[in-house]
Amino acid sequence: MSVIGKNGRATNLDRPADEPAISVKDLAKRFGSHQILAGISFDIAEGEMLVVLGPSGSGKTTLLRIIAGLEQPDAGDVYLHGRLATHLPPQQRQLGVVFQEQALFQHMTAEQNIAFGLKLSKASGEVMRATVNELLDLTGLQAHRRKYPAQLSGGQRQRVAVARALAYRPRALLLDEPFSALDAVTRTDLRREVRQLLHGLKVPALFITHDQEEALELADRIAVLNAGRIEQIDTPFEIYNHPRSEFVATFLGAANVLLGRWREGRVALGALRLKPPADTASLAERQPVKVIFRPEDVILNFQPQYLDTPYYLGAAIVEDVSYTGPIERLVVRLSLWPSHAEIEDGPHRRPALAPVDEIYADGFPVMVTRSKWEASEMALSVGDPVVVGLKGYRLLPHYPLGGAAGAKVF
Ligand code: ADP
Ligand code: MG
Repeated sequence: MSVIGKNGRATNLDRPADEPAISVKDLAKRFGSHQILAGISFDIAEGEMLVVLGPSGSGKTTLLRIIAGLEQPDAGDVYLHGRLATHLPPQQRQLGVVFQEQALFQHMTAEQNIAFGLKLSKASGEVMRATVNELLDLTGLQAHRRKYPAQLSGGQRQRVAVARALAYRPRALLLDEPFSALDAVTRTDLRREVRQLLHGLKVPALFITHDQEEALELADRIAVLNAGRIEQIDTPFEIYNHPRSEFVATFLGAANVLLGRWREGRVALGALRLKPPADTASLAERQPVKVIFRPEDVILNFQPQYLDTPYYLGAAIVEDVSYTGPIERLVVRLSLWPSHAEIEDGPHRRPALAPVDEIYADGFPVMVTRSKWEASEMALSVGDPVVVGLKGYRLLPHYPLGGAAGAKVF
């Protein structure tokens, strides 16, 4: 028997099936003179998990509180299953909310905490017992049902919190960094459990976190929030592999960012010329650009002809090597003025060309990771000369603050 229902929906409400579970349109919020959120729009489909990812202070909690009805927006609207809800009081929104530090009732056992919402909803004793039982099963808490919060671990308390939020039979769940106070192992376990649980129940959810790994693992889609604006909203794959801004690229994992200029259909980085990615739109001659790539997108070799990629970058010197179990991390210093001959001539010799800007005076450090297999096939030590290619990269126009003229762009 499934009391909650396979789709996790309350059954007494009319609901057009094609409406998003949660829809926000052009939300804006300021506190005093401080603009906290601006132009926030997105939809969460029925059954979808949207993760809002952003650094501390970017406005995540404020956004969640607006959707929950705990805060009013200055502009914009919230729709829940197609109904305008901007001014609906929280208790009429049928949303379950889970916060980081759970306010469980200390004098109630796990099962009493879970049943609390059901009591308010005046469910019959039988329905209540069945629902609580099912939730204890789903959250793996059967063995702990009679324990008080003080007798539970942090992870178990958050399980109770999730179960309690689901007991209300919410039409959507809002979770504000629910696992961030837990240790790393518990956090990872709980993340997987909750993902399975919510996918199984098909409860749409808005999950807030500042943890990129959590976002990548949990999300159907990720919205990246930066200083109160959504920079990109996309699948985890797209966000990670095709970031549309430097912020998105660097916030989600390590990324190398090189500044260059568009010259005659190529990317110029000092004296280097890099072939543009296939999907590059045409750019104005001398337009400053950013070349963005992840450490695992770098390939190294001793000879350029063995680099199996159209994106040949240049010559470099290995500056740092550290082995961290599954992967090897390296820093190589890319010379922006190399030729292949130089490598054979001896490392790090730079022809006396135009003066180099001080940022790049000694070349540009590039983060590289290699699998243990790659590392053992081609062992590298500090000081080794290498050539650098990219499996792929992102090319973004660069609009430096204060205008292109003053920027350190090659
Ligand atoms: P996050 O959850 O991403 O860390 P918050 O939404 O909590 O961000 O806060 C965003 C910004 O809004 C912060 O600078 C915070 O200090 C400010 N802020 C949040 N709530 C209030 C409030 N009630 N009054 C004034 N400033 C607030
Ligand atoms: Mg917060």
